[in-house]
Amino acid sequence: MAIPTVSIDRLDELKALLATPKKVVITTHYNPDGDAIGSSLGLSHYLRKKGHLTTVIAPNEYPKFLHWMPGNQEVILYDKSQPVAEQALKHADLIFCLDYNAPDRVKDLAKPLQEAEAPKMLIDHHLQPESFTDFSLHTTQASSTAELVYDFIELMEDTELIDYQMAACLYTGILTDTGSFQHASTTARVHEITADLMRQGLDTFDIYDKIFNTASISRMRFFGHCWSNRMFVNAKVGYAIIEVSIKDQLRFHLQKGDTEGLVNTPLQIDGIQASVLATEQEGYVKLSFRSKGDIDMNTFARQYFNGGGHKNAAGGMEEAPLDKVIEKIKHTLPKYLQS
Ligand code: 5GP
Ligand code: MN
Repeated sequence: MAIPTVSIDRLDELKALLATPKKVVITTHYNPDGDAIGSSLGLSHYLRKKGHLTTVIAPNEYPKFLHWMPGNQEVILYDKSQPVAEQALKHADLIFCLDYNAPDRVKDLAKPLQEAEAPKMLIDHHLQPESFTDFSLHTTQASSTAELVYDFIELMEDTELIDYQMAACLYTGILTDTGSFQHASTTARVHEITADLMRQGLDTFDIYDKIFNTASISRMRFFGHCWSNRMFVNAKVGYAIIEVSIKDQLRFHLQKGDTEGLVNTPLQIDGIQASVLATEQEGYVKLSFRSKGDIDMNTFARQYFNGGGHKNAAGGMEEAPLDKVIEKIKHTLPKYLQS
């Protein structure tokens, strides 16, 4: 298999640190997705096998379609179990920061994270990481943080330790962050890693089925409603916006994760190069951006909507009424796309 192209500065120091059993805390970003939870649990299984005591902390709850993952029951949600999470961070020997590039991506968890004295290690693939950790395994070339966790295990010369549990978690991270192996980030190495993970006995259809074929009827009807009544298309410039009000969310009894994937769907329209999902929340609007090819939504999200992410998939937010946010997108995005 191709060797990892990433490296870790002072790897020897890190290896020395992990040479004896340690209390390790693994943190990931707000509104965790398949890669956030998959990479965190995959790393946790690996470190436990190495004899370390691990605690996985997520800032808040994640979609039910990820709850089947091995180790799920051990994830601590910071918004529900603050004291437990804070104790773990305070007494940690090493803290991993997975699938995020800046402390503000963990919301309220940022304070106890930054107050913790333990050395920190970043494993991430988002653009423009802030330097808030002591060690780092980072490249925007990686399809997913799960891929980088595999690289980490390889750099630690431990690939023979990979077992079914680690494989199921890392596979989930890769599967979800590559859009089921569709995105341009799906390199030959991604397939090689995937093949290696599959050899641990993964039933990959079953994993796919649990993640993608567990929608509620109301989610399907909600998608139909959005496509029929809530999608604005500017075919000339080549972008689309789907707007979802709080009323819509109540009408279709939306659960966490029910809007997942919706933002990608307008890209199926011939000629549409950029897509926006604007979801109204109490006091602000959450934004998701997707694009094809060279259109850089990370820069757009940073410039206009307090956000960031990747070139083809970014997010942001705006503290304004939904209609004002839609107006702002219609005002800024065409100019941005045409510049
Ligand atoms: P999604 O649209 O799925 O919420 O997010 C797409 C990508 O953008 C993810 O990689 C996510 O980490 C990133 N992202 C989403 N929201 C924000 C945000 O508010 N700030 C930053 N910096 N990145 C975000
Ligand atoms: Mn990711």
